[in-house]
Amino acid sequence: MKQITLLIPVVLTSILPCINDTLLVNQDPTKDELKFSFQDTEFKLPLHIYLPEKKSDQKDEKKFSLILCYPYFPGTSNEISAMHKSYWGEEAKKRGIAVIYVEVGQQYYVRIATLVTMQNPAAIETLIEHSLKHILKKYPIDDKKIIITGASMGGQISFTAYNLFPNKFAACIPMPGQCSGEISKKLKNKHIFMIRGENENVQTSALMDQQAKELKEIGAKVKYEIIKGQPHIIQIDQKILFEWIDPIISKPVLSNPKEGKCLLCNKQIDENHIREHNNSKYGFCSQKCAEVFVKNPDKHIKPSKKS
Ligand SMILES: [Zn+2]
Repeated sequence: MKQITLLIPVVLTSILPCINDTLLVNQDPTKDELKFSFQDTEFKLPLHIYLPEKKSDQKDEKKFSLILCYPYFPGTSNEISAMHKSYWGEEAKKRGIAVIYVEVGQQYYVRIATLVTMQNPAAIETLIEHSLKHILKKYPIDDKKIIITGASMGGQISFTAYNLFPNKFAACIPMPGQCSGEISKKLKNKHIFMIRGENENVQTSALMDQQAKELKEIGAKVKYEIIKGQPHIIQIDQKILFEWIDPIISKPVLSNPKEGKCLLCNKQIDENHIREHNNSKYGFCSQKCAEVFVKNPDKHIKPSKKS
């Protein structure tokens, strides 16, 4: 008898996490297609869309944060499934964050590879512009909370895109991936999490080491992680990725009329100096400006369009 009573909890606990995992990972993506032309060729790249379910009490205007992910070569649905399972699926779903993958595919990756070696990122530029335009038009995504990421070729796309359009993304995670072209000074104060395996090939390792150093020098908020004993395509706990992402996308929405600029003096906002007034949050460059504001907030806030 004793054995039987013991068996039941054991069986239950070993099956339940299994069922949960299966449900989370096997959520079917919605399929869509990204159409554009590049160098006189028409491309139709499949999109794999994972949108969080809306709760019944949720207002329609609610917009989601987005993980925008580009797969490693050859960039088919196989690589996308693997990436969703190992990097993003479960933790994104828990948090109600959307994940969208662009199935770049071999044909377009060849275009990127040829152009990247010539230090001409036109193929990446085109891909990113069309990805964002399509996604933001069609899906309820908060354009201030997009994380661009990818592995290998996809990592190179994400890093290069962030370098080209730093203000279109909240953060970037090349895992691994190097930037094609010179690191832009516009990445100052921007968030980037570079990850590679210890056994990454020598060339990519050296380039990523160098670029991480350059990013630190220009004042980017860079975290660089080299994972012991790991190859080119890495394994990493999803929780580690989201521990880094969470504080970035939970940043308060500020009501400053000029984005990113101190309400008083127009210098860059320091995230340590945010003050609240009438349910709105305002950012300041320094303690000094924040204190001046607090003494007489209404003086510094332009009246909104009340007739
Ligand atoms: Zn100021």
